[in-house]
Amino acid sequence: MKRGTASVTAEICRKFGNDRSRLMDIAIAVQERFGCVSHEAMEEIARAVGSHRVEVESLVSFYSFLSVKPQGKVVIRLCRDIVDWMKGYEAVAEAMSRELGVTMGETTPDGAITLTHTPCIGMSDQAPAALINGVVVTHLTPERGRQLIRDLRKHLDPQQLVTMVGDGNNEHPLVRSMVRNNIRMRGPVHFAPFDPGSGLRKALALAPAEVIRAIKDSRLRGRGGAGFPAGLKWEMAAGSPGERRYVLCNADEGEPGTFKDRVLLTECADQLLEGMAIAGYAVGSDTGIVYLRGEYRYLLAFLESRIEERRRKGLLGRDILGRKGFHFDIRVQLGAGAYICGEETALISSCEGFRGDPKNRPPFPPQQGYLGSPTIVNNVETLCCVSRILVEGSDWFASMGSSRTTGTKVLSISGDCRKPGVYEVPFGITPAELLEMSEAENTGTLLIGGPCRQMIGPDRLEGRICYDDLATGGAIVVFNRARNRLEIAEHYLDFFIEESCGHCTPCRVGLILLKDLVHKVIEGAGAPADLAEMRSLSNFIIRTSRCGLGQAAPNPVLGALEIFGDLSAGFVAERRPGLLPEFDLSKAVIDAELRVGRQSKYV
Ligand code: SF4
Repeated sequence: MKRGTASVTAEICRKFGNDRSRLMDIAIAVQERFGCVSHEAMEEIARAVGSHRVEVESLVSFYSFLSVKPQGKVVIRLCRDIVDWMKGYEAVAEAMSRELGVTMGETTPDGAITLTHTPCIGMSDQAPAALINGVVVTHLTPERGRQLIRDLRKHLDPQQLVTMVGDGNNEHPLVRSMVRNNIRMRGPVHFAPFDPGSGLRKALALAPAEVIRAIKDSRLRGRGGAGFPAGLKWEMAAGSPGERRYVLCNADEGEPGTFKDRVLLTECADQLLEGMAIAGYAVGSDTGIVYLRGEYRYLLAFLESRIEERRRKGLLGRDILGRKGFHFDIRVQLGAGAYICGEETALISSCEGFRGDPKNRPPFPPQQGYLGSPTIVNNVETLCCVSRILVEGSDWFASMGSSRTTGTKVLSISGDCRKPGVYEVPFGITPAELLEMSEAENTGTLLIGGPCRQMIGPDRLEGRICYDDLATGGAIVVFNRARNRLEIAEHYLDFFIEESCGHCTPCRVGLILLKDLVHKVIEGAGAPADLAEMRSLSNFIIRTSRCGLGQAAPNPVLGALEIFGDLSAGFVAERRPGLLPEFDLSKAVIDAELRVGRQSKYV
């Protein structure tokens, strides 16, 4: 390693206090500086933080935004979520690939530009989209794709591609992003004006236990999708033994089709940071961490400036708002492209500087979480609700929504509709009402809560969006009747296969077997027994996988089978005696024909 490289790496490590638990930040900084984390850099990092090179290597190999091999000076990550696919991903990918003269995953021979794809980047309302060294470009077309590559070849500066900026805080000088908020419906919890400090003052007028009581009385359920009661989680953390406690904000929304946290982070940052401080006061914590997905890196400087501003106003730091002994501060932990880190124990592993491996439970994070201490993990929307509950009161909050799911829900709606975007609606709303609001027509399939949750057909449009019926973390993806449900399921299986951490066999191997079965049926080579096998394999994977990813990944397949209806007739055929539908005789003899140089004759 060149002396310069060694000293820069050592300097980066020093900047993070040579702290083993800040390995993520160190690796990300080295990657940004050198375009990779080379083996030599890993040696240097391991030496500086008192670890082993293999540990650093295991971290680098886990996250898709980190790389051992040098990447181009500019890395184009084209999003290939299913919505991008529906809006023209393939044509854009082909145009960019031709313009660059490389295939997907390759770097131009001069080492300047790498073209690759990535799963959902949280821009499904403005797809096709891409991240270019963290700069977001939206509404791509083949022509725009070609043009931006021509521009990049001239200056290699992705920032110069931002020729127009989006609305709201997307215009802020520290954001300057062409992303649009697309807020289509403003509700009273998130999108009403918020006075920074107003919730915290109300909280400090109460004892910590009373704050927890207020959250319990509001019956706030975690907005991540599982719907666990937030007050109960806080009570567990406050009552668990430990010298320190932590408040973690899960800003790693990676569920394909979800983008509402992107808008909340952009427009409601104060409400979120205040919710964290209130949680800190309630459970006796002095440290909060916002785990920001790497895809939203463009918001990092803005969020850090908001944190700094709150310190200046006495809303973060020591003796907050003059309350002696109440200290609470927040740092942002950047992720590096790993969907599994949205799972709370994986997120904790990542914050600790490890691979984002999920942990076994129990103990649960409120008992033993970050660095072994009691930890609350709440998502962005939940923490925003907390601030509003303190300002407006528990009864006010509990008066909205359905009987067992109070408050409002922020939804990201995308896909086959005319008004994709963010909607704050009361819980209990029906999918039919959502389709009308978003101007969707001829809908055949809806994903409620992304692929992790439920795929429903037109027969369930009168259900209720709430945790007791159609639960969702926020993603609603609309597919019209022309879309093939099994192809949708196959697309999501590809996503889960790519994102599986590989720890357990049912998830690592089972999902591939399931995908093979689905593909076989799509190709017209399936038999009725294959549908039964798909069901049984799906249920086996759900039952035996260790974490939420494996337990949810087969849901789109089960959903497609449930609403398969008359489609099944076109896909599967009974086997005739002696014939296997999946066996293609023509394909099977191609090799032999090539070797002998003549066509086979068979009937
Ligand atoms: S279910 Fe999948 S993602 Fe979860 S621990 Fe097992 S292999 Fe990893």
